[in-house]
Amino acid sequence: MPRKLLICLTLWYNINMNLKSLQEKIKILNEKTRPQYRLYSPKEKEILTKTVKLNEEVGELCNDILSILKLQRRAKLDKFDRRNIYQEFADVIITVMQLAVAAGVDVERAVGDKLKKIEERYLKDRR
Ligand SMILES: [Mg+2]
Repeated sequence: MPRKLLICLTLWYNINMNLKSLQEKIKILNEKTRPQYRLYSPKEKEILTKTVKLNEEVGELCNDILSILKLQRRAKLDKFDRRNIYQEFADVIITVMQLAVAAGVDVERAVGDKLKKIEERYLKDRR
């Protein structure tokens, strides 16, 4: 067997075995921590679902921004349509609003309060 192939096979075997033992340890950890992550109500499930969805939409927006900056693979850039970024911004905003409704957050109040804080900080720093 050629030496390079032997080294590759040994590396592959070591990585694979390490991943297997790591996965076993994680499985034990999951069994110990599972009760802490139980969702009790449909509302909690809705909030978790919308939070995961928001992460997906932010990822899609990031993907489009990477394309605009030409930081993607050629194949992705070839399929990219610049106009799609409007839809991705809308998806993020709509999903945030849906999450706020599910979590019982008054968005107008939250944004208003935060903008006030930012303005105060900005004005304070300018003095
Ligand atoms: Mg989207």
